[in-house]
Amino acid sequence: MQWPGQLPQAKKSTEVRIKKTALPKVAQSSTTLAQLDENITHCFACPRLVTWREDVAVVKRKAYLEHQYWGKPISGFGVSKPRLMIVGLAPGAHGANRTGRIFTGDASGDWLFGSLHRIGIAKISTSFSRDDGQKLVHTRITTAVRCAPPDNKPSNDERDMCAPWLLREFELALPTTRAFVGLGAFAWSALFKALRELGHVIPTVKFGHGAQLIYTHEGVEYLLIASYHPSQQNTFTGKLTTTMLDSVLTKAGKFSHAID
Ligand code: SF4
Repeated sequence: MQWPGQLPQAKKSTEVRIKKTALPKVAQSSTTLAQLDENITHCFACPRLVTWREDVAVVKRKAYLEHQYWGKPISGFGVSKPRLMIVGLAPGAHGANRTGRIFTGDASGDWLFGSLHRIGIAKISTSFSRDDGQKLVHTRITTAVRCAPPDNKPSNDERDMCAPWLLREFELALPTTRAFVGLGAFAWSALFKALRELGHVIPTVKFGHGAQLIYTHEGVEYLLIASYHPSQQNTFTGKLTTTMLDSVLTKAGKFSHAID
């Protein structure tokens, strides 16, 4: 069993700033997931999202006025050689953008980690702080866009600007990763795009809860499977239930041998 290394630490904004012209090269030159994670935290490529993530960190939500917000891009979280990769949309303004860890500090995170705990992948059932002792088994969680966007809606330009980080993350993880879960249509589309850029010849599969594709690339079998995003919009309305989320994650966990 392999446990994740340390999360990157917050750096002062006066330190290295990766601008849009340098981003693809920095992403591609990252030789480990740990190095990639560290580099991502220095990204300043999207002016609108940099302003938003920093403004939210200053203004804060009333309930979190005493909290020191992270206010920077969010890296992936999990093991260095994942068998299972879970892809979300983007950090939450008062969740990951506050705590510094993906799917941490908001209701979506509790849903996702609750499910991962029930199926034996997450050590604890909640996700409230980067220091909560959470650990994942054979799994990594990441997002298509690394900075919290206004209204949870990155623009197409921002999506494309951030894509080299995801591309490199997949490339570094692919020697061990066998199943990918897309949480929501945005992530579903981003993971197809990244895998195609890495040479995987795969047909388009329409997004829907439980939609899946099993294919072979260079003799290795992969599973791509979709779930509705565990946002409050879906969980409050019953569009996504715990049973539905558990079912998709169990399927991906078993296929990839992240769980037995
Ligand atoms: S969204 Fe991605 S590309 Fe844009 S600033 Fe954040 S980390 Fe950089």
